[in-house]
This record gives sequence, structure tokens and C-alpha cells, in this order.
Amino acid sequence: MNTIGNRLQLILATIQSIKTNQQSPQRVQVLAVSKTQPASVIREAFKVGIHLFGENYLQEALEKQSQLTDLAIEWHFIGPIQSNKTQAIAQNFSWVHSLDRLKIAQRLNDARPKDLDPINICIQLNVDSEESKGGVSIHEVESLAAAISTMPHLKLRGLMAIPEPSTNVDKQRMQFKKVRGCYDNLLAKGYALDTLSIGMSEDYPIAIEQGATIVRIGSALFGARQPKPSAG
Ligand SMILES: *Cc1c(COP(=O)(O)O)cnc(C)c1O
Repeated sequence: MNTIGNRLQLILATIQSIKTNQQSPQRVQVLAVSKTQPASVIREAFKVGIHLFGENYLQEALEKQSQLTDLAIEWHFIGPIQSNKTQAIAQNFSWVHSLDRLKIAQRLNDARPKDLDPINICIQLNVDSEESKGGVSIHEVESLAAAISTMPHLKLRGLMAIPEPSTNVDKQRMQFKKVRGCYDNLLAKGYALDTLSIGMSEDYPIAIEQGATIVRIGSALFGARQPKPSAG
């Protein structure tokens, strides 16, 4: 049977077996990427034990959040961020994984309601250096980290990356090693980071091997997605 519960068990078993093989197994959390999935499916996933959900499109996320207020879900924003969306993101999400611009950081910091905890932030790193994709380059990451660290309503937790999809395990490993190297460099410079958000359905085992603490899993949990709705 291919229920969410069955798929989750398989994912958790895979995570456990990789951790068992490692010298110092880190804590690994599963972030369920629920873009395009209706609120009813999120509810089902919550029931089998998933409490972290990631959304890419603000409007879609807000609609589902309004139907799920009875569940103690931790909401993570993982999609590209336009300036005019920062206020709603700051009000409705605990985490942002896709921060890659100073201006967006400032706007999130300004808009975070003062009665809420700071927003947990991962800087999105672009390891492929493709012009078209989101994320800061390895050379820019430290100055953005320094700026975020001065903002009282943001809490810098770590790095996120979406390497170019590849079925080649060596290529996957190489990309994740770059992210890990950048993360270790920031740690060495004194940044108190604890989150490496790398790994998706196709490559999460290698990401965990390279130190992932959050894996962002969509299709391996929910099945193949329908085409995405218009961005919101
Ligand atoms: C869609 C998405 C995922 C999940 O992708 P799957 O391959 O379905 O696991 C993870 N991270 C981000 C940023 C995404 O947009």
C-alpha cells in the first residue's frame, strides 16, 4: 500500500540506516514539501506524525493554513520571495529557507510581529552558479550572514541549497560537499548555526551522509505532483 504513512516509514528507515553508518549521527528532521497538495492531505500527513511543512507559493499556503489552524504545524517557506510578499511571510511562517537578498532580510525583520519569536532563517546558497537560479554565491554568503546576524527579529540557523538534479551519486555528493564546506566555514568564523537544509526526494540519502539536518521531501512522501498552480 502506498499511503503517506507507509512512505514515511520507508524514508525514516532510510534516514536511520545512514545515520547508523556514520560516526556522529546528527539529528535529521523531515520537512514535508506540501506544495500543490490540498489541506486534507496535509492533515493526513500530520496524523502519521509529520509536523513540519514546507510551502513555495504564498497564496496557496495561506489558503491551506486557514483550514489547518487546529493543528500545531510548523510552517516553513521554501520558495522564491518577492518583496511584496514579505509581510505575509513574516506573519505566517516560523522558518524561511530561501533567503538570498539583503533587502528581503530587512523587510522580513521589519515585518515580523514583535510578539512572535524571531523567524528562523536559512540562507539559500547557489552551488551551481547558474544565473537563472535563486541563491547567493559562496563568495556572497558571509556578508549576508553578517547582516542577518544584526537583525533582532531574524535568527540565522544555517544554509539551504537546491543543487541541479542529478542521478549521478558522485555529482550529488560533490554538490552537497560544497554546501557543507561553506557551512563549516561559517561555523569556524563563529556563526552559531545548526541547520543544513539539503536533500530532496531523489538525493536525500546522500545529503544526510553529508550532514543534512533537514531534508525537504515532496514526491517521495506524497507521490508525483500535478503541474504547479499559478504562482501566488
Ligand atoms: C518541490 C521542492 C522540494 C521537494 O521536491 P521533491 O523532489 O518532490 O522531494 C524541496 N525543496 C524545494 C525548495 C522545492 O521547491
